Amino acid sequence: MNIFVTGGAGYVGSHCVRGLCDAGHAVVVFDNMVSGHREAVDQRAKLIAGDLGDVDLVDKTLAQGGFDGVMHFAAALDVNESISKPLHYYRNNVVNTVSLLERMCAHDIRSIVFSSSCATYGTPPSVPITEDMPQDPISPYGRTKLAIEWVLRDSTVAWGLGATALRYFNAAGAAADASLGEDHDPEIHLIPRVLQVALGQSEGIKIFGLDYPTPDGTCVRDYVHVEDLASVHCAAIETQAESQFRCYNVGTGVGVSVKELAAAAREVTGHDIPASPAPRREGDPPELYADPTKVMTELGWQPKYADIRKTVETAWNWHRAHPNGFTAA
Ligand code: UDP
Repeated sequence: MNIFVTGGAGYVGSHCVRGLCDAGHAVVVFDNMVSGHREAVDQRAKLIAGDLGDVDLVDKTLAQGGFDGVMHFAAALDVNESISKPLHYYRNNVVNTVSLLERMCAHDIRSIVFSSSCATYGTPPSVPITEDMPQDPISPYGRTKLAIEWVLRDSTVAWGLGATALRYFNAAGAAADASLGEDHDPEIHLIPRVLQVALGQSEGIKIFGLDYPTPDGTCVRDYVHVEDLASVHCAAIETQAESQFRCYNVGTGVGVSVKELAAAAREVTGHDIPASPAPRREGDPPELYADPTKVMTELGWQPKYADIRKTVETAWNWHRAHPNGFTAA
């Protein structure tokens, strides 16, 4: 297949681009390079540096590309930032997706795999989370992802789009060969922050909230390996039918607390990783982990990484080999 990938120079996008190339697909990456890295884009893919807000460039690219489908990763993704900058999030995530879909409709491209999020559930009534639970996001970020899901659903009815919303839990880990990994600036995510301590780049981590109604008082998340995300994206685009909306929770099904994550990182790195208590972070639900039965049954997806230590180990190998990320490697 010939696939247009937005945000393909980012963390999840770049691993998926590699997976698509490995599977024999032709890939064009479209990325504004604000948080993406040129070095992260597989050599077999073509990279166009452009913003989805540049409708003319998107139009021209889609008109000439002969694409069979789109994978849409490009988005702003900091929950906390979305609270103070909602308009930026709605424009960047929702408005730009609507523009992209308009151009797809104009050029008769009727397949999209969308990076949705478990943040669309807000604080779920119970865990594990199934796809039929109410979607009631508690942050502007989560609301932008849910709004896009509605646009996709309505498009499947109106103009025959085939759409798959992959509701990721926490993307984690790095390529098994340590050549691709996570490189955000500023780094907000737990695993890279923990590993920065092990690398001596920071003195300790802060645990955002120890009084949550969870077994050890810290937030519980489902850390799904980024290479497993790549394989589910391939399965989704390869099985997509027109005029159909599908949604899947993509996680391992295992909940890991912040304390458990820190303990796993201590085991993997041999560093004592000091952790100090800090207030809760706004927009953090206590406990999120997936029931992945639907994606396993319908797409035949099986995550390779189920043990958090193995996932952290791949991230550790990447950060050790690239202590300053891509550019300074
Ligand atoms: N977290 C933390 N300290 C940090 C970064 C994150 O305690 O320095 C917690 C955060 O509150 C959340 C979990 O770790 O409960 C995972 O956060 P992350 O930002 O990695 O992903 P999110 O779940 O927000 O998508």
